[in-house]
Amino acid sequence: MVSAKQYIGNVWNALHSTLVGMRITGKYFLQKPITVQYPDQRLPIPDRYRGIHYLEQEKCINCLACARACPIDCIEMDAIRHGKELEWVSFTLDYQKCMFCELCVYPCPKDCIHMGTEFALVTEDRSELNHDLLSFKGMAPDARVRMKEAEVKKAAKAAAKEAAAAQKAEEATAEEGGAEQDDASPESGGDTGGGEA
Ligand code: SF4
Ligand code: SF4
Repeated sequence: MVSAKQYIGNVWNALHSTLVGMRITGKYFLQKPITVQYPDQRLPIPDRYRGIHYLEQEKCINCLACARACPIDCIEMDAIRHGKELEWVSFTLDYQKCMFCELCVYPCPKDCIHMGTEFALVTEDRSELNHDLLSFKGMAPDARVRMKEAEVKKAAKAAAKEAAAAQKAEEATAEEGGAEQDDASPESGGDTGGGEA
């Protein structure tokens, strides 16, 4: 049977532990919540975080330096060249393989491939992890304008060259005609048959 002393001790322990618990609860109850409601809210991410890549496509020259630097061949790109301009088909990065090492970033001569602060790669379909980093396909509008201007310049140059060649040929024909006339005239001492007879 429990003695009165033991009984009072148990009551005291129960009261004490309840008060300690309530003090801790009260302390946090008065503080601002620290829970982040992801994905609606996000904690700040350091600038040097190595997250999902992004590409400044307008600056990219399709030199393949990034793809060659990747140790596990994650990057593949395809573009058609029109002189100096590029018509983009694809620029993919396979996040099924990527280990976020950043080795593809350093050799870029145009500083146009970067690692961003985005990190969410949630999908039910693994093929969706092969990201296309292009922000547009085909040619950029200003590249199209530059290409048209270059074509016009090229056509004008070709026409000028053709005209110059035609003029040269005309001058040569005129010179030839003049020489033949000189040969045919009596003063020239040419082969007329009657000069010294
Ligand atoms: S971060 Fe590393 S593994 Fe990923 S694409 Fe760049 S070089 Fe390849
Ligand atoms: S290294 Fe830079 S410029 Fe060259 S293809 Fe990659 S992203 Fe483009």
